[in-house]
Amino acid sequence: MKIGLEIHVTLNTKTKLFCACPATTAEPNKNTCEVCLGHPGSKPFLNKEAVLKAVKLCKAMNCEIANEIIFSRKNYFYPDLSKNYQITQYEEPLGKNGWLDVDGKKIRLKRIHLEEDPASITREDSDVLIDYNRSGMPLAEIVTEPDLSSPEQARKFMKKLLRILRYLDVFNIDGVIKADINVSIEESGYKRVEIKNVTGFKDIELAITYEAERQKRAVSEKEEIKMETRAWNPGKGVTISMREKESEADYAYIYEPDIPVIPVEKKWLEQKIPELSDAKIQKFKGLGVDEDDADIIAMELELAELFERVSKQINPVLAARWFRKELLRVLNYNKKTIKEVEMDEKHIVELLELVDKKIITDNTAKKILEELIVKPFSPKKYVEEKGLSQITSEEQLKKICAEVVKNNEKAVKDYLSGEEKSFQFLVGQVMRATKGKANPDVTNKLLKEEIKKNI
Ligand code: ZN
Ligand code: MN
Repeated sequence: MKIGLEIHVTLNTKTKLFCACPATTAEPNKNTCEVCLGHPGSKPFLNKEAVLKAVKLCKAMNCEIANEIIFSRKNYFYPDLSKNYQITQYEEPLGKNGWLDVDGKKIRLKRIHLEEDPASITREDSDVLIDYNRSGMPLAEIVTEPDLSSPEQARKFMKKLLRILRYLDVFNIDGVIKADINVSIEESGYKRVEIKNVTGFKDIELAITYEAERQKRAVSEKEEIKMETRAWNPGKGVTISMREKESEADYAYIYEPDIPVIPVEKKWLEQKIPELSDAKIQKFKGLGVDEDDADIIAMELELAELFERVSKQINPVLAARWFRKELLRVLNYNKKTIKEVEMDEKHIVELLELVDKKIITDNTAKKILEELIVKPFSPKKYVEEKGLSQITSEEQLKKICAEVVKNNEKAVKDYLSGEEKSFQFLVGQVMRATKGKANPDVTNKLLKEEIKKNI
């Protein structure tokens, strides 16, 4: 199977690509002006921020970057396109010949270019509603060679792309991420079928899976596979024939006469990009962190960077376990990202030191972490002030264990007749009596000793 993707992502600039309208969500048709409404005589002017962000993206995707920025008009009629042409890059894209590594395979990128988004169209009963807020929003279009060979690989590619977009902070999360997908199979001699405008990750994978199956079935039933454009119906989970494929010649491209050819400046190319997720994962694995934990911690740049700072001061494997399980759990629960909390590495290192030295139990540490996310403080002082150090003294715990065994005859009997759950209940009683501070290993040992005495 050969799969190629053309992905459109909205860049997170303050204003649109060719006018000063805000690139934010607003009530329909509020963010508009004569340029993005396509009034005759209005003149587009290029947004530098969009160019800088697109250059960053090209760099991160290993592209050669053009010396000049050249725009063209792609001509076609549709109600979402008030000028009857879309300003895009055609002859010479901003970036070309890039690649992205997926599962050790180089997926080649044909091009990355800048273009404006058309308006959005929604249908309500017999009405067609057009919102020109989206008209002129800055898009980066990323076109791969047909190097992907399965729906899962396409999903992995998309996942990787999204991570890069987030690491670079160039992606507008409220904007579109939509793809046109080329799918062809060996059995048909790789006759190219295009699925237009598939929105969202899950649907991209589903559409490819469906389309490959459809083509295989057609070949086996001796039906002809046409080169055509199909639409994805997400509700029904099928692709539907739209039209025979138009060729690029149908768009009658011409150079855009209203925007000059703009030389790409050296300092645009020298923009720094952060170390990317793949490199971070390798680095974390080198510290002994397992692959799954490394992958999850590298999901967000801020989280990965925080982990790097913490792991310089504390056992990385311990830190990775706490990041992946507890830190993410508490962040999710509070619906926060690491960027939005005040807590920093100082607090986490102090907390994990208390865990590492077995001064507090895991349970106590989890509770402290829950509070740290809300408002940071010194975990060490907190533990001292509240007397939360764990109890490891056998002498102290022995008394409590003996008491618990004496007061819970039934549970002891059930445990002795083979009910493991009853033992956990007894442990729970010790924890309750010590406010969760009893060392679990010592407690287990002492409880068993006390029970033996009672046989
Ligand atoms: Zn505008
Ligand atoms: Mn496009």
